[in-house]
Parts: sequence; C-alpha cells; structure tokens
Amino acid sequence: MKHPPRIAGVIGWPIAHSRSPLLHRYWLEQYHIDGAYLPFAVTPGRLETALRGLAGLGVAGCNVTIPHKEETARIVDTRDAIAERMGAVNLVVVQPDGSLHGSNTDGFGFIENMRACRPSWQAASGPAVVVGAGGAARSVVAALLDAGAPEIRLLNRRSPRAERLAADLGGPLIPHEWSAAAGALEGASLLVNATSAGMEGHPALDLSLDPLPASAVVCDVIYTPLETPLLRDAAARGLATVDGLGMLLHQARPSFAAWFGVMPDASPELRALVEKSLGEG
Ligand code: NAP
Repeated sequence: MKHPPRIAGVIGWPIAHSRSPLLHRYWLEQYHIDGAYLPFAVTPGRLETALRGLAGLGVAGCNVTIPHKEETARIVDTRDAIAERMGAVNLVVVQPDGSLHGSNTDGFGFIENMRACRPSWQAASGPAVVVGAGGAARSVVAALLDAGAPEIRLLNRRSPRAERLAADLGGPLIPHEWSAAAGALEGASLLVNATSAGMEGHPALDLSLDPLPASAVVCDVIYTPLETPLLRDAAARGLATVDGLGMLLHQARPSFAAWFGVMPDASPELRALVEKSLGEG
C-alpha cells in the first residue's frame, strides 16, 4: 500500500502573515517529497485541542508562532534542553506513540545565519552586545552562549527584564542600564538588535553606534524592512551587517528535517523568493 503524504503545518493567531508555508512548500518541491505544509489559524483557547489532534490526524508535527510558543512549551509531553531553557517551543514533532516533543530552533537559525553570512565571524572572538530581553533576545543569547561567547552585554529599555534573562540563562551575561549603552558597545565584536524597534510601523532603535570598533558586526533580527535604520547606519559607517531574513530561513531547516527526513539548504534562490513575498506585503 502506498504511504499517505507526510503533513505538517504552522499554528498561530493570526497566521496569514507567516512565510513558513512558502519555505516548506519550496523545499517539498525541491526535494521531490510527497508532503504538504498548511497554515492553521488557532485561537488561544483552542491551542491544546489543536495540538492534541495532530496525532489522530496523522500529522507529522507543526511549527508554532505568536502567540502560542510559551503555552506550547507547557502542553508538550517532552522538551529538549533548548526548549526547556527557552520556556518556548516553535517546533513540535509527533512521536510514534502519539506523544508530542517540543524544541526551539530560533537560536540555531541565528547562529547558522551568522556563520553563513560572515564565515570569518566567531562567537568566541569577543564580547557581544544583545539589545532586547524578549523571546528573540533569549534565543540569541542562549545561542551565543552555546557557541562560546566570552561575554554578553544585555541592553534593554526596562532593565528588570534583562536582569531576569541573565538570571534565567546564567553564564557570562552582564545587564547594562540603557543610560550606560555607550560603555556596553566599547570593544564589542558583535551588536545584535533583538528588539522590535526599527520594524515597519515602529520607531527606530535609539542607539548611537559611535563607540563600536570598526571590526564589529551589526546584526538585526528584524526582516521587515530588510534594511532597518540600524543596519543602514552601520553600513554607512563601513561596519559589516547581517539582516534578519537569513535567521528566518535557517530556523526552518531543522523543522523540515524532523518531519520530512532531509536537512534542506537556505539557498539564495529561496531567499529571493521570500524577499519577493515580503515586497508584496
Ligand atoms: P518581545 O518578546 O515582545 O520583546 C520585544 C523587545 O523589544 C523587548 O525587549 C522591548 O523592550 C524591546 N523594545 C520594543 N520597542 C523598543 C524601543 N523602541 N526601543 C528599545 N527597545 C524596544 O518580542 P520578540 O518576540 O522578542 O521579537 C522581537 C523582534 O524579533 C520582532 O521584530 C520579531 O519579528 C523579531 N524576530 C525575528 C526572528 C527571525 O527569525 N528573524 C525570530 C524571532 C523574532 P522592553 O522590555 O523594555 O519593553
């Protein structure tokens, strides 16, 4: 008997903006896999019912996006170490016994993209500054720690959140007051904006890049727009820059591998396809 197609999807509310179907459908076609990837609009009150229904439907698993990542971490039956540390799950894999296993691939996406865009960059090469203390910042900080960053300086408008992040993750994390930003940037080898400042419809990040060394790399996790005011400023100063779209592409790769059995590439062609879709709104 022929096997039925493998099915996966993404759960979020709202879900229409998600680029995940575009990515996974591209890979299904590229690797000639008999499968499907669907957007599931799931309201907050229905998350557990939706997740528990996956096994019965024979669905291989799903991605999880805003606003469900933290709640999914509480619902799944097992979590890997990174999901445990994040307290957030963006990848669910249905196990052969029907139980749900949760993981988090955002940090993988961040580091893989850094390595792909800046092959000479190494986390261990110097202090990193991470701006923000939300979910994206948590993923970036954990990934930098795992990659061997010797020191991570945390900068957040509301400093208690950065202090909580430092206490949760441990390691060489040093929260800085926003008023001490200049000192935090001195001697840094990497600056990452992991806030929503600079996103379309939001004010730009109010941070002077003057103290950064000329060798520093400036990265933004935002990908709408691709060139944020921060990246434009960094490029005008001759600093190396990395935009947020690559992180989005790379974080999707382990999900595809978990459900469909092939680790896909984040190729320039795929990037161009997603860039085009972003341009279309
Ligand atoms: P979040 O949990 O809501 O956290 C937002 C953070 O931004 C907080 O630290 C907040 O500071 C800070 N912030 C907001 N406006 C600011 C401003 N004007 N100046 C300084 N700081 C400001 O959001 P998130 O989930 O971490 O997402 C953050 C961004 O990352 C979003 O734009 C999201 O699209 C992007 N993202 C990208 C990827 C990717 O794959 N490229 C993956 C995940 C997220 P306070 O604590 O002081 O409020």
